[in-house]
Amino acid sequence: MTESTHLDHFEVFPWNENFETGNETIDTQHKVLAELLNNLASTLVTVNSEEINAAFDKLAEYANEHFDEEESIWFEHFKDDPWFISHQMSHATFLPKIAELKTIDDGRSVTDMVEQTVKFLIRWLAFHIIDNDKRMAISLESILEGASVIEAKLIADKKMSGSMRTLIETVLQMYDGLSTRTLDLMRERNARKQAEKELQEANNKLKELSITDELTGLYNRRYLDSAFETEVRRALREGTAIAYYLIDIDYFKSFNDNYGHLEGDRILKKVGSQLNEVCRRPGDLAFRVGGEEFGVLVSSASNKEAKEFGEKIRTAIEALNVPHSYSEVCEHVTVSVGAVYKKPSVEDTLVEFASIADRRLYKAKDLGRNQVVSTDN
Ligand code: GH3
Ligand code: MG
Ligand code: MG
Repeated sequence: MTESTHLDHFEVFPWNENFETGNETIDTQHKVLAELLNNLASTLVTVNSEEINAAFDKLAEYANEHFDEEESIWFEHFKDDPWFISHQMSHATFLPKIAELKTIDDGRSVTDMVEQTVKFLIRWLAFHIIDNDKRMAISLESILEGASVIEAKLIADKKMSGSMRTLIETVLQMYDGLSTRTLDLMRERNARKQAEKELQEANNKLKELSITDELTGLYNRRYLDSAFETEVRRALREGTAIAYYLIDIDYFKSFNDNYGHLEGDRILKKVGSQLNEVCRRPGDLAFRVGGEEFGVLVSSASNKEAKEFGEKIRTAIEALNVPHSYSEVCEHVTVSVGAVYKKPSVEDTLVEFASIADRRLYKAKDLGRNQVVSTDN
């Protein structure tokens, strides 16, 4: 759905039965013209140039076809009459005027351009329909009843003068006022839609920010809580197990002390994106849970598979080959991993999983670092 269709039910040119000429074909086509004008007005306030151009083109194209058809109807009875010729000329001014309005760029504000364009079109169409076309339709009726063209024209002139003249002027003025108010309404509505859209985008961004760690782009500690709950529910539903890994960089303090905090940050990012790489399957999630600590949550089919995945994490970091001359375990940056593999019960919480993982991580550190511990034995 385009923006403009939201605004469709506001009409700058509501159809009124006074516009009817009595010729069914012509009246049907006039109604379409009014509809196209309403559509153009609603696109004009969205200030979307592609939509505006399309709406202008549609109106121009349809007007062109309609004029041809209308002229062929009038031609049959008014050929060579000055009325027919002036009517034809009036048609001929419409399309160039539309083209001019469409392209004019004289420093007017968009609001002014919209207002002037819509008002011109309304005035032109309303006047043309309720004066020119109606006058011709009335005389045509008299001709069909046996009057000569001259007599028919006199009858029509008479009918269209006096109170009819006043009525036309009143209707035109009302439509001018109405169009200003309707355009205001359309603009307000459009601005509200735009504001709603921006608010929605801001909300999405906020939501994203609140679950993302700024430095690494991984999920943050806060999100781990809700992700864990979701994973437990899924595991219970599907009868699967969860594997949780707590990952801590080895000798990172001395890395920072020797290479600098900025370089330390760069490595944290590198480790973060490597963990993301390892967590490729949908449902594998990587988190930064603290300074140089990471968490990985995956659903796992077996104890063996869970162990292998822990080893995959460890080797993936070692394979980054980031030099660390101050590590006592390796020439490169390495991690120690505490792993838990478990089919969760309804009561299982992240606290339990995390404390087991923490205990095993310490054990991995104790045992010499750069390794995975996945049991308490
Ligand atoms: P271990 O092998 O026992 O884990 O030793 P370690 O030095 O890694 O452990 P420790 O807990 O003593 O030090 C962690 C260091 O991580 C302390 C701090 O300098 C560093 N660190 C924590 N958060 C950040 C961060 O956001 N950026 C940087 N650059 N360093 C951080
Ligand atoms: Mg630590
Ligand atoms: Mg550490």
